[in-house]
Amino acid sequence: MLDSYKHCVLCPRNCGVDRLSGIKGYCRETAELRLASAGIHWGEEPPITGTGGSGTIFVSGCNLGCRFCQNYQISQNGMGRAVGVEEFARICLTLQEKGAENINIVTGTHAVPAIVAGIKAAQSQGLTLPVLWNSSAYETSAALSLLDPVIAIYLPDLKTLDPMTAGIFFKTTDYPQYAQAAILRMMENHPLTYKKRGALAGPPLASGVIIRHLVVPLHLDSTREVLRWFGEKAQGRALLSVMTQYTPINAGPMPNRSMNEQEYDTILGWLEEFDIDEGFFQELDSDTEWLPDFNQPNPFASEHSTPLWHWKTGVLT
Ligand code: SF4
Repeated sequence: MLDSYKHCVLCPRNCGVDRLSGIKGYCRETAELRLASAGIHWGEEPPITGTGGSGTIFVSGCNLGCRFCQNYQISQNGMGRAVGVEEFARICLTLQEKGAENINIVTGTHAVPAIVAGIKAAQSQGLTLPVLWNSSAYETSAALSLLDPVIAIYLPDLKTLDPMTAGIFFKTTDYPQYAQAAILRMMENHPLTYKKRGALAGPPLASGVIIRHLVVPLHLDSTREVLRWFGEKAQGRALLSVMTQYTPINAGPMPNRSMNEQEYDTILGWLEEFDIDEGFFQELDSDTEWLPDFNQPNPFASEHSTPLWHWKTGVLT
């Protein structure tokens, strides 16, 4: 499977570079799997957070490269360090030992072969938690075929359906085409399935898809189209999570303010208009609450996260 890195077309960027020989593609990563942080997160959607929190693993590098990425230190600035299959498995098992509800892999599209190998190694050593794939949805059908056997829950973003907006946000106009196809496939293969209430402690969602959409101020037309798409194509087949935590990081042409109450109310009205009632709508938060600093042992506010592994120190005690 690692041969996929030899002439890398793992994602729609289709770089065709030999990452095994140390060359980096658009994702800025060679064939080495690099991680930045792992810990128990308390701020994910309720069916994912459950009572034990989500066991989140942050992968370094990214194949999309949003101009407004809150994790830019690791997604675009190279922070993190290489881990082998055994260390990845050990991190998963540590998260399980600490009570995580699931293993939540964030932005690993450019590292699918190494991550699948790591999950399989962890499972052979006793990992029983469901694994979540938390991604931009800028992924190919071939990559999703590799993931399907080990992934229980998908958390794809649907950032925009407008090619011109995609060009502004992440320098590719084909994002809408690939993201729609990826999400339709995820919903087809992973219908919403809930754990029986009271049968097990933990989150109610056993498998399925939660589609995330981050509202970008001044780009509300894009949000309206995403909500319309969800109402027509995904209502009843997936949950929707509308996120309001856009934080300006002074990048290029992006808005330099967070979302305001008028925009919030507008979106509330659209959710009603499109009869979307299964999902989550994040409350408005302050500007910097969600900005992590991956230089710190706990990159997030302590109420949101309990750190368990860090790229500088390894497993934290
Ligand atoms: S995974 Fe990286 S190197 Fe491979 S095609 Fe995508 S951006 Fe290019």
